[in-house]
Amino acid sequence: MHVHSTASDGTAEPREIAEAGAGFWALALTDHDTCAGVGEFMGRSGELGVKGLRLAGIELSLESGEGFGEFHLLGLGVDTGCGELKELLEEAREGRNLRNVRMVEKLNALGIGVTLEDAQRHAGDEVMGRPHVARAMVEKGYAADVKDAFERYLKRGRPGYAERWHPEAERAIGAVHAAGGAAVMAHPQHWTQDWVKLEEGLRELKGMGLDGIEAVYWGNPAETTVAHLAIAKRLDLAVTAGSDYHGANKPGVPFGMGVDDEEKFLAPLLARIRGR
Ligand code: AMP
Ligand code: FE
Ligand code: FE
Ligand code: ZN
Repeated sequence: MHVHSTASDGTAEPREIAEAGAGFWALALTDHDTCAGVGEFMGRSGELGVKGLRLAGIELSLESGEGFGEFHLLGLGVDTGCGELKELLEEAREGRNLRNVRMVEKLNALGIGVTLEDAQRHAGDEVMGRPHVARAMVEKGYAADVKDAFERYLKRGRPGYAERWHPEAERAIGAVHAAGGAAVMAHPQHWTQDWVKLEEGLRELKGMGLDGIEAVYWGNPAETTVAHLAIAKRLDLAVTAGSDYHGANKPGVPFGMGVDDEEKFLAPLLARIRGR
């Protein structure tokens, strides 16, 4: 339920994702701030006669309440033609463009000779993100690999980091709902690993309409998964599983993963998508 393509910062084409995952029981394409890959992904899945569940998705970075950093929201099963969602995505991409300019200026001031054009070549015609800037830095010899570029320059707190605009949670959840989708918090452990705080925050977000959490995330220790599942159960939130595949932009992350008892696993999510 969480895969990136070349439409944002993944390295596999939407059609390649449809093909490689043709045998999967369920799969959602969730690019950052764009649904540009969804048509190709769903179309190719249809051509292949895929039997499993295929969802049009989106991943948004949100402003959060007090005391928490930003968090990521997945919209699953969205109608990509929805005006309210399209408007939100356009604002988010505009915020990215402004941020990208400032990020490159900061890097240049540090003596790193990468340009917006260098990064855009790695992004193609699609949404540019920090991984593309990182690749440009690797290409020009300023970093050993993408991870190194993030660690030394691009992550929050490092000298090349620049803030960008994020929508507020209530508006983003509302836009996902307007598009008929389910609103699911991505990788909750990136938001906080304090589970008491997580539960408090999720209760508040549920009041704004949050439908579920990505309780099962590739690479999490079992105790984290157990905590997420317990919190979801207490709050009556649906749960999803995701690997957050980005191809070569996040080496080592597998494409797809297994869960026990798939039918039971996804039924509450589907009820929240179809129920609208
Ligand atoms: P952006 O949305 O342009 O700010 O870029 C965020 C994206 O960068 C995330 O979705 C990841 O794909 C990638 N990313 C974030 N932090 C790291 C990191 N420490 N190492 C490698 N990739 C990262
Ligand atoms: Fe990403
Ligand atoms: Fe994310
Ligand atoms: Zn993601």
